[in-house]
Amino acid sequence: DTPILEARDLSKHYAVSAGMFTTETRTVRAVDNLNFQIAKGETLALVGESGCGKTTTTRLLLRLQDPTNGAVRFNGDDISTLSAGGLRHYRSKVQAVFQDPWSSINPRVRIRDFVAEPLIVNEKLTAGEVDRRVHEALDAVGMGPAHARKYPHEFSGGQRQRIAIASAMVSRPDLVVLDEPVSGLDVSIRSQIINLLKDMQAEYGVSFLLVAHDLATTRYLADRVAVMYLGSIVEMGDTDAVFDTPNHPYTEALLSAALPSTPGTRRDEIILGGEVPSPMSPPDGCTFHPRCHRKIGEICQTEAPKLAVQPDGRCVGCHLYS
Ligand code: SF4
Repeated sequence: DTPILEARDLSKHYAVSAGMFTTETRTVRAVDNLNFQIAKGETLALVGESGCGKTTTTRLLLRLQDPTNGAVRFNGDDISTLSAGGLRHYRSKVQAVFQDPWSSINPRVRIRDFVAEPLIVNEKLTAGEVDRRVHEALDAVGMGPAHARKYPHEFSGGQRQRIAIASAMVSRPDLVVLDEPVSGLDVSIRSQIINLLKDMQAEYGVSFLLVAHDLATTRYLADRVAVMYLGSIVEMGDTDAVFDTPNHPYTEALLSAALPSTPGTRRDEIILGGEVPSPMSPPDGCTFHPRCHRKIGEICQTEAPKLAVQPDGRCVGCHLYS
């Protein structure tokens, strides 16, 4: 089956000034040669520390930026070659829910108009049809149609995030990018929103690309996970396999810092040494080598490992697994 969305050799490089007293430039590889696919009804999560390229990746997928190399393909079509009509269709079928429900809703816009926006921008419907779709979408997220006439300040953070989800779902999208969808919410509300997302997926078969630094949310929502470090994917596979037996040393360290080991798995805490290196001057060889607790010698400092498929189907970019 053709995947809903595919990143193929996707890269975004920027030229930045090398300093105040020089005209030289350096290349920042914000995202470098990403390859992944998202199937219908599937959730793929991108995880990694800040600065690893998750945000640039979502901006490329939403076509808020164009890649330097490679392509994003939607149902097989390169989105950079879409006609104006094709792009409108893409924007209605690929939606996003962002972190902060307070900032994503204009205080002077009624809920009806906020939820309807993807329909008004991308589809030609009568006002009556728009109202019907908005009511349906509000209903699906557990908010009655009477709320359509109200303003954002009349709702709590959790309700606003439900409204943001209604707006993302109103155009019946194929894919929703969930960018930290529960981080701005009280812990007590988070599980309600996560369960709502799961229910929406089961009912509508929508695919999700999840970006979350909360690994417990990731484990619960994602079918597969791609671990990113300095703009590249270093490990990608089924969520349970990656969380239970991480292969890449960076995945091991990331998980051990964030999650207690679950019964039946043994995971000693690994302290991630040092900071993420500057993407302006990434280390030679394996970019993780200055922080790696399992370095195997010279090769780690001189040769960049390639992603290699492992017997269980996951991909790992580390000389220990090549
Ligand atoms: Fe560590 Fe070497 Fe693997 Fe990089 S290639 S993660 S430095 S063992």
